[in-house]
Amino acid sequence: MDYLPLFAKLDGRRCVVVGGGEVAWRKARMLLKAGARLFLVAPEVNREIAEAAENGELVWIDQPFRPEHLDATFLVIAATDNPLVNELVAKAADNRHILANVVDDTPKCSFIVPSIVDRSPLIVAISSSGQAPVLARLIREKLETLLPQHLGQMAKIAGQFRDTLKARVQSLSGRRKFWEQAFEGRFSTLVAAGQHDEARDELESLSRSQKAGGSVALVGAGPGDAGLLTLKAVQLMQQADVVLYDYLVSEEVLELVRRDAELVSVGKKAGFHSVPQDQINQLLVNYAKSGKRVVRLKGGDPFVFGRGGEELETLMESGVTCQVVPGITAAAGATAYAGIPLTHRDYAQSATFITGHLKQEVDTLDWVTLARPNQTLVIYMGLMKSGYIQQQLLGNGRDPLTPVAIVERGTQEKQKVLRGTLSELSELAKSAESPSLIVVGEVAQLSEKLNWFSSSREKGLLLDEKDRQPAPAVVNLA
Ligand code: SAH
Repeated sequence: MDYLPLFAKLDGRRCVVVGGGEVAWRKARMLLKAGARLFLVAPEVNREIAEAAENGELVWIDQPFRPEHLDATFLVIAATDNPLVNELVAKAADNRHILANVVDDTPKCSFIVPSIVDRSPLIVAISSSGQAPVLARLIREKLETLLPQHLGQMAKIAGQFRDTLKARVQSLSGRRKFWEQAFEGRFSTLVAAGQHDEARDELESLSRSQKAGGSVALVGAGPGDAGLLTLKAVQLMQQADVVLYDYLVSEEVLELVRRDAELVSVGKKAGFHSVPQDQINQLLVNYAKSGKRVVRLKGGDPFVFGRGGEELETLMESGVTCQVVPGITAAAGATAYAGIPLTHRDYAQSATFITGHLKQEVDTLDWVTLARPNQTLVIYMGLMKSGYIQQQLLGNGRDPLTPVAIVERGTQEKQKVLRGTLSELSELAKSAESPSLIVVGEVAQLSEKLNWFSSSREKGLLLDEKDRQPAPAVVNLA
């Protein structure tokens, strides 16, 4: 982030605009709107500025700019068409540690002015950090049409009710829940319809009926690329009080969790210590019972080799309000990004997902069926048992030349695809790291031809991780 977005309170503070033309007047009007005590420095000014000075809206200093004009000043905008004067203003401001903006000259600015959507007191500010002002403007125009006019009024009425609510609902999370309910419910509808008194009554009755009850959402975080999250997942992550996540959930996805939510890591990576499952179940119940909105964020899909079933069972037995939000499971995500269609008219009429995390002595898998040709076998957690898997498939008649692929860190920037044949599987697995997905079947050979992800990465069509913007938060405007 190159700039810190902030909203400055100008009310009654001395601000200076240098310049007397059209641009200067536009900037002056903006500062006046925000309540600044405005001084405008220019030997000559246009008619509008002269009139505003006559009406006492601003003070016109009809002199060439001198650094002393910035004494006791909060901020200054240089809007002349003379680069030398603009530079002088920027330097003088810098010496005095005053915020300065030079119109159309970002390098000289210590602050920049965003494009805004004004629904006062609600204000949305958009900036491209000076890189692409037209893009910022286009986004502003989009938001203008998206954000209903009544939002301002809604924020105003809400503001008037804050103190009452504070006295009535003590907990911060209780108040947050209240507002979410209000802004997404009848209150919003009433304000939109212009029934402001009824809207105030609605806040009254809603605040008296607040119940403290937590909830848990088992949310699929997908295989890594944050763009693969569902809208529901992002909304819940933005509303959560607590998020319990495991090691499979990518950094990029965690970035989208509400900033002040409590983040709890609960493991688990094969061979490493993690919180035991029954403790995780209990943690979820305890958090919910203390009134928190809990998101249990699980890699891929919660119900595919994710023990989501057990968590849900405990929650339901304990009477906790819960919901399940499916995610893109590794078998769907990693294969798609590796160019491996799970089924294909010519090569595979079925696909089976199995776990390689099996104990030999309790292996109940039907290897005879799994070893048949023209089907796709997707193996989760298979690296460590790849030798055993290879041996079972070959022993039950699968062709040793059957194509295999191992997709490491599927859908992520560092995705790697290792290709070979079934007879080489355990060798290949030695050079792969967790998390990896093994794909056995004729379709695996297509990965060489259909590797759209790595070729677009090589052509630079995909952004580097560091340049990637997290997906925007989802706002419910109903
Ligand atoms: N619930 C998850 C699976 C959890 S089991 C899901 O639906 O995807 C953990 C295994 O999933 C890992 O050992 C690996 O085999 C697979 N896996 C998860 N994310 C992956 C990724 N990004 N790339 C490759 N394999 C992945």
